[in-house]
Amino acid sequence: MDIRRQETNSDAVAHPIYQTWLGEQRCRYKGNYGRRLPLRRIREAGIYDQWRLAQGVAEWLTRHCKDRRISVCVTDASCVNAWAFAQGPHTDESVIVVTRRGLLALQRLNILVAAAVRGLRDSPEVLPVLLRSLGSRQLDDRTAVAIAQLVMSSAMLFLLFHEAAHLLRGHLAGAAAEDEGEGPPLAISSASSVPYAAPIGRRDLSHPNVYSRTIEFDADIQAFYWARLYLDHIDTALLSDELGSESQEVFRILLSTPDGRRWVALAAGLCFHLAFSANASRLVKLKDATHPSRHERIDLAILSDAAIANHNGEDPPVLWECVDFVCHMICEDASNGALVFEEAARQLARRPDQPISAYFEETRVWLGLSLDETSAEQVHQQRLALMESMRHWGPIFARRQVASTLPILPWWPVA
Ligand SMILES: [Zn+2]
Repeated sequence: MDIRRQETNSDAVAHPIYQTWLGEQRCRYKGNYGRRLPLRRIREAGIYDQWRLAQGVAEWLTRHCKDRRISVCVTDASCVNAWAFAQGPHTDESVIVVTRRGLLALQRLNILVAAAVRGLRDSPEVLPVLLRSLGSRQLDDRTAVAIAQLVMSSAMLFLLFHEAAHLLRGHLAGAAAEDEGEGPPLAISSASSVPYAAPIGRRDLSHPNVYSRTIEFDADIQAFYWARLYLDHIDTALLSDELGSESQEVFRILLSTPDGRRWVALAAGLCFHLAFSANASRLVKLKDATHPSRHERIDLAILSDAAIANHNGEDPPVLWECVDFVCHMICEDASNGALVFEEAARQLARRPDQPISAYFEETRVWLGLSLDETSAEQVHQQRLALMESMRHWGPIFARRQVASTLPILPWWPVA
């Protein structure tokens, strides 16, 4: 039986249904989500492996839902982006839409992950978690490529879990209520308190941009948590033979220890932020942007990892080396012509004769670490304000949540 032909046939049936539905979403929400890519064009674009992984993850998410199916649709919109829609073309179907350029942006990081892994060989400091987790396995080029495969597959997981969090956590109901002319509920939890000097007042917590940034934070941390959960429960005996025996072995070794899984999940989340928020560099006031800046997202990623480690009863020290690893990726890119992070390259004042270590400190600043005091304080205050906003919205989200067996990490009282 020709499996490809079978897939193409079912795709030919599904294609027009999703195409029409996307057109309706475009009219309804005034967003350009692009046109759905048929399977043939997904193969041509070189994103078939990611597409297949996405289908598997959508099935996994569906198994965790009581009353809905979650599906993934890839479109040709010319931006690096993804969206979640509570109501798809079929009854009880929710859809995550991802652009081809989004998947390609993740793919482009592959080679930088491998290069940064290779760079760890000359690491002068204490043995990094990644090398410890590899045990006796040599860090040769094939191992580096396998690690890049694992990190980038996990970054794909992270992307889908971020969107799934918007669906399952009740984030989208606000928009739906506004459509019906009701506006979002404004009840404030009586348990809520403002222990710090937040840069915005209590009544500002319902501002649409603050709401949007709050749900982005929540989606990020749930994505970290679910990515960890997914990696914790992978049956490595079922890893596809197509990976090849060497990559299979590296996957097995890294996923066999909590440290390895923690490293992979955090590196993957940071890679997602690099690909999807690389240009969100400006630190603007809370109400002036719908999405957190790159700095805020990195800041929260580190906190998320620590919160999850704490929750799992693992060694709590912050995995700074994961952030340094990502700095190495950006430095590798800068020393190879800045093919990926153009904005970083402009700010790093790259000189070809300089060693990678010369860019390192600047990269940390670009990424939002080692910020000057005023900017660091701004990031800190905005995070506190978003936590306060989360406390305010928490009970409302709890009422709107889609019935799902995926656990929630309540980060706002602890982060
Ligand atoms: Zn989002």
